[in-house]
Amino acid sequence: MLRDMIKSQLTMKEIFGRYAPERKVARGRSNCPLHMGDNLNFQLYEKSFYCFKCHTGGDQIKFVAELFRISYAESIKRIAADFGLVAEKQTLTQYRQAKQLREKLKRENEKEREEVRDFFVYLVNIAKLCEKWVLKYKPNYPEQVWHPRYSFALEYQHYADYLYFNYTKDNPPAKEIREKLYKDFEKCI
Ligand SMILES: [Zn+2]
Repeated sequence: MLRDMIKSQLTMKEIFGRYAPERKVARGRSNCPLHMGDNLNFQLYEKSFYCFKCHTGGDQIKFVAELFRISYAESIKRIAADFGLVAEKQTLTQYRQAKQLREKLKRENEKEREEVRDFFVYLVNIAKLCEKWVLKYKPNYPEQVWHPRYSFALEYQHYADYLYFNYTKDNPPAKEIREKLYKDFEKCI
């Protein structure tokens, strides 16, 4: 959160130097720019302030809010913009998101390449298997119900070759085509 970033990263001295540069600070004390004081009533602490004359005190954000007579939320926005905290935060978020996306794509890409590689090995085996099955499960008489492996072999015997010779690992058949082959094959085993 911006509020926490300001409170943790910016000292009162830095804030004071930026918004009341005309007022000198000596041993942590200065003239109060809030009531236009001319004595050293304004105490700067590490992350807060207090004026012993007008009795205004608070954190760095409160100081800027009081100085410019704006709300606490507006003060946060102003300080963040002036010190580049918004940009830094956005940059960091964008960097992390981009990194995550790159890693995700890389993982998906590797997974896909692995699948495709497996698929081509599988195609060769399917083609060989189909050759065998066409002979082994051939019906013995015309009325015989076809064995599922025989149907599969008839359908894929040449199709497997076709896929193997018409596609490459860099230009693989669509995922649906690959998945249909796996599914059909699973039905016969
Ligand atoms: Zn004061």
